[in-house]
Amino acid sequence: MGLVLSPAQVAAFQLYLDELLAWNEQFNLTAITDPAQVETRHFLDSLALIPALAAHEGIPVPALLSRPLRIVDVGAGAGFPGLALRIVWPRARFALVEATGKKVRFLDHVAEKLGLGDTLRIQGRAEELALREPHRAGYDLVLARAVAALPTLVEYLLPFAKRGGRVVAYKGSAAHEEALCAEQGIRTLGGRLSKLIPAEIPGLAETRVLVVIDKVAQTPDGYPRGRGLPRKQPLGCKPVEEEAEETV
Ligand code: SAH
Repeated sequence: MGLVLSPAQVAAFQLYLDELLAWNEQFNLTAITDPAQVETRHFLDSLALIPALAAHEGIPVPALLSRPLRIVDVGAGAGFPGLALRIVWPRARFALVEATGKKVRFLDHVAEKLGLGDTLRIQGRAEELALREPHRAGYDLVLARAVAALPTLVEYLLPFAKRGGRVVAYKGSAAHEEALCAEQGIRTLGGRLSKLIPAEIPGLAETRVLVVIDKVAQTPDGYPRGRGLPRKQPLGCKPVEEEAEETV
């Protein structure tokens, strides 16, 4: 994937794998328990953003990694993609937003164990945090994987992005249809659909598509809407094939 990891970074991933599998015996953090599958489907999949974004910007990977961006991962679960990215991107400031307490406790545990204490862990819902300082319009890059279908997701994510910043949603084969459905909402929320980038994950047959949305204008007040509306009545149309959450 064009990434060179230091021995310390490789050791960090090994430790992360060990802790994930150990905690998974007590708490349901992930359905993926085979170590090789964790490497492919969680670690490599998370890291796929880096070469894709560097190519999108027309810069080499090291130049991207030298940028001290503020990045938030919304619905981080057991840390994907945010915590995995943090291991290889120490210049960036990461925040992980997660609604479920037991997952946040795992994130706390792993972040401390890996010496990544500068990674902010926040228990809460995107719809609420995105209304408040310092989160609203506070990030250069806003990420999510397997959290909701795109028309719902853009309402969670776009309010977090600064003007000039970006949202990247990790999607599968439904990306194109979801993007069509989300376009109207994206515009309403101050975004502009920029590109759908197909990403190759070594060892993974399925299609992976990164949906890149530029934040071009401020999100109007009142978004994200409350009372579960982003989910129940998404802006735009409802895609037929909704992407399921891995665990709830
Ligand atoms: N991103 C991780 C986890 C996906 S599961 C991965 O790809 O492996 C979806 C996660 O998003 C769950 O942990 C759930 O608790 C969280 N989540 C769903 N809706 C959310 C919301 N509105 N705000 C914050 N977290 C949310």
